[in-house]
Amino acid sequence: MSRSTDAEATRGGLKIVEDATCTFCGCVCDDIELHVQDDHIVKAKKACVLGTSWFLNHEVEDVPSCRIEGRPASVEEGIERAAKILYEARYPLIYGLSDTTCESQRVAVSIADWIGANLDTTTSVCHGPSGMAFQGVGEVTCSLGEVRNRADLIIFWGSNPAESHPRHFTRYSLMPKGMFVPGGRKDRTCVVIDVRKTKSARAADVFIPIRPRKDFEALWTLRALAAEIEVDLEQVERETGQPLVVWQDLMDRMKAARFGVIFFGMGLTMTRGKHANSEALLALTRDMNRHTRFVCKPNRGHGNVTGADNVVSWRTGFPFGVNLGRGYPRFNPGEYTASDVLANREADAAMIIASDPMANFSQPAREHLKSIPYVALDPKETPTTRAATVAFTVATYGINVAGTAYRMDDVPIPLRPAFDSPHPSDYEILRGIERRVQKWYAAEVRSGRWEV
Ligand code: SF4
Repeated sequence: MSRSTDAEATRGGLKIVEDATCTFCGCVCDDIELHVQDDHIVKAKKACVLGTSWFLNHEVEDVPSCRIEGRPASVEEGIERAAKILYEARYPLIYGLSDTTCESQRVAVSIADWIGANLDTTTSVCHGPSGMAFQGVGEVTCSLGEVRNRADLIIFWGSNPAESHPRHFTRYSLMPKGMFVPGGRKDRTCVVIDVRKTKSARAADVFIPIRPRKDFEALWTLRALAAEIEVDLEQVERETGQPLVVWQDLMDRMKAARFGVIFFGMGLTMTRGKHANSEALLALTRDMNRHTRFVCKPNRGHGNVTGADNVVSWRTGFPFGVNLGRGYPRFNPGEYTASDVLANREADAAMIIASDPMANFSQPAREHLKSIPYVALDPKETPTTRAATVAFTVATYGINVAGTAYRMDDVPIPLRPAFDSPHPSDYEILRGIERRVQKWYAAEVRSGRWEV
């Protein structure tokens, strides 16, 4: 992939990259001005505290680009060995993908297809339940641009963007003056529903603390109120932690809104009920469209996790947890999700791309991953790259590598890198692996071992 230079200039000895894109969180802010000196970012104008730290602390790792069993090796040798590990496996696993470009994600899915792998992304450990709910209920949605220009009621449910997505309020949701909300914050009502008073709750007009693990009950209370079905006063208060009058007040606001939006986070998707919670929220949003315009959006964490969902969906029909072992995709979270495939000791080889399961998977999953040959690609050294059979240190997407990332509202954003890296991109490595796998597959087809 060639580097973009159309928005670069030089000022006072510094290279200025305008409209650079921050890939630290799902907001994927594409208005950052980077000041670069000697392959080091010294300033990131407009970035929030998290984005500034992402850019300014970026260091190119002074390590070999490839290590095989801990010893430095050439990238070519690494690609050959990685392809062999994956091609010879009976149940290979490919996992990660949320912190790289869509271009690399596409190649990773192609490799999974060629070798009949089990393919999973980090969505399975964050918004996986929402991915399942989308398949079952569908999603009434819109872009963040529409929220900015139209939304007059904004609800955050189990999500704390003030800390996790610091520019969410100012760039997309609460503060901006929009076409149909010219007064900005004054024209909008903000409601936060959470189990504790977060930093986001302090910025809200209405905060509704609910009983932990009772999101499902609260959502179904609202669905009942939307349909004007009578509910039991005492049971509502007992189950949700709030009296019916609070939920009725919220429903009145929702019905009175001209354009309402619910942003939901892992406080909803990863607590008791999981995909049933997400389904209830999607169904409530759909119900509300009988009264007014209402949409919902998951607040996504990793920079390009939305891209991973999109690319895996284009290629297989499903967003994560897909098994291609039979030559066609099968979707079954809980069976084909990486943590389960590893904990059940099913995978006999793996490739981990831009993720660190050795640091955050369960102990049985980590122990199994350690016991099988696997390939890791990451810009940094991590517990996963340290234990890998073949470890590639790769250039960082968005800082050293151009390409595409999806914002949390499924809008693709181009990346403008600041400077080159001495390390190859994961795209180059993955293409090398794909070429070898294709070649071996074609040879086997010619020899009659495989039918096409
Ligand atoms: S809000 Fe997210 S994408 Fe935007 S600058 Fe901050 S960390 Fe980067």
